[in-house]
Amino acid sequence: MTPDDLTFDKRHIWHPYTSMTSPLPVYPVVSAQGCELELASGEHLIDGMSSWWAAIHGYNHPRLNAALKAQIDKVSHVMFGGITHPAAVALCRQLVAMTPEALECVFLADSGSVAVEVAMKMALQYWQAKGEPRQRFLTFRNGYHGDTFGAMSVCDPDNSMHSLWQGYLPQHLFAPAPQSRFDGEWDERDMVAFARLMAAHRHEIAAVILEPIVQGAGGMRMYHPEWLRRIRKMCDREGILLIADEIATGFGRTGKLFACEHADISADILCLGKALTGGTMTLSATLTTRAVADAISNGDAGCFMHGPTFMGNPLACAVATESLALLAENTWQAQVAAIEKQLKEELAPARASTLVADVRVLGAIGVVETTRPVNMAALQRFFVEHKVWVRPFGKLIYLMPPYPISPDQLTQLTYAVNCAVQDERLFSH
Ligand SMILES: *Cc1c(COP(=O)(O)O)cnc(C)c1O
Repeated sequence: MTPDDLTFDKRHIWHPYTSMTSPLPVYPVVSAQGCELELASGEHLIDGMSSWWAAIHGYNHPRLNAALKAQIDKVSHVMFGGITHPAAVALCRQLVAMTPEALECVFLADSGSVAVEVAMKMALQYWQAKGEPRQRFLTFRNGYHGDTFGAMSVCDPDNSMHSLWQGYLPQHLFAPAPQSRFDGEWDERDMVAFARLMAAHRHEIAAVILEPIVQGAGGMRMYHPEWLRRIRKMCDREGILLIADEIATGFGRTGKLFACEHADISADILCLGKALTGGTMTLSATLTTRAVADAISNGDAGCFMHGPTFMGNPLACAVATESLALLAENTWQAQVAAIEKQLKEELAPARASTLVADVRVLGAIGVVETTRPVNMAALQRFFVEHKVWVRPFGKLIYLMPPYPISPDQLTQLTYAVNCAVQDERLFSH
């Protein structure tokens, strides 16, 4: 990367949620290995983000690379309409085997947002086919389900600026975000508003959609498993579908393979993404029950109305299958448990800072919520100077490292976070 490349980037390339007129600095990464990113300057940063929940096994993993290379020499891509291939069959076999028994029909999509669109379409088509069209979704505030329009319509209305899309976005039902904490007492009053909304709209609601246990990009909040047991029961009683968006929580991040396991429940529709390919390629999956799949297939359309060009991309399927094989070796459980223990111990001192509102840890996720929004550019620079890659947003500084991170590497991450919350200059007013 030359200085000219960075100038070009600044002038011509959008990054996630950025301005073209006053872009924040970006850091050029030229390679990545294990739990470290290498910058063009030659500096190495310890990765605290897993590239947004995805790179659970670390970077440049020899087995993931080998799976990709082997598949390239067979076929990188072939259309999925009228064609199938061993990579997709192997992956879907594993997905069906590792998820709850009732989830047996898999739709392969290209990204998390599309997996959510697919889930929502499935719910709509299900009710259409039953001759009782329903078009509303019930969800929590502080949720995040993606950036496409359907997904956005069930994201937190403030965080995703629903005001911008007024008149264009469908109006769904938002219950207050769960207040009973994951590791706290269950408070019966927590359910009241949700239950009222469901009762008032029971004949309009196609599905409840939620992120089980951890609300990710909408606030990094961790809530009580009793919520899921109650919602599962309410949905069953009303015949309303339950969509679990495990795009962030899936594949071990919360200490269970899937977060729904904390409450021992199963959804009717399950969305997976992010870590599915071990952070190497974009791929997602939406799984559903035979009952939902049959209803959709027997409806007026006679089929499920979705089919992306790159559906079931063989390269992505091959590497996902290898990532799942790595998970199946079960080292992740001890790794995530050790990360959890260390995060709890080493982030606890942050609580003493007047800039810190809350510290919470679950599985391989450590969150420090601050009292003031971070000064993004200053804090980002601070972390890079401390040789770590941590990407805060709003009032949230959080760590979710790759599972194989060493205790020393993790200490460098928590040390940097503890230092950051001592320095007022890194926060805005
Ligand atoms: C990231 C995320 C999505 C969207 O996935 P993309 O691959 O970014 O489209 C959806 N739901 C949840 C819970 C997520 O964390």
